[in-house]
Amino acid sequence: MQAKNNRSETVPVYEHLTDLIETTLCLKGDKKYHDKACVNRTCESCGIDNLQLLEAEIDTTPTAPNVKWQRFEYINLQHADGHEKRKLQLVIKETGPGDLFKDLKELLKSFPSHQFRYFLCILGEEAKAML
Ligand SMILES: [Zn+2]
Repeated sequence: MQAKNNRSETVPVYEHLTDLIETTLCLKGDKKYHDKACVNRTCESCGIDNLQLLEAEIDTTPTAPNVKWQRFEYINLQHADGHEKRKLQLVIKETGPGDLFKDLKELLKSFPSHQFRYFLCILGEEAKAML
């Protein structure tokens, strides 16, 4: 019997961000949008814990190999005139894979509601009607 080293044989491989998000929400069925409770993460049937990760991806032990990744963070910049300004900046991180995926899961918690509020802005009344 051959060992299962390939990710696709054990857990799903997500090609698009949408696939990743869909995994953490209940199915839409015939509806155009996900339920508000799912999007707001108050639904007890779905959530980021539905995301299947490999053991190596949740490894937070000191022996786990470091990975380089980037995330946007707010940085306070001091200007010559003494004023401090907050700026969004891409920051390079080098941590174990566990920290990277912990960060990803945190982002996924609020992403659907941010995405839905964006749709509210561009679709207007149609999206508001489901609230
Ligand atoms: Zn749900």
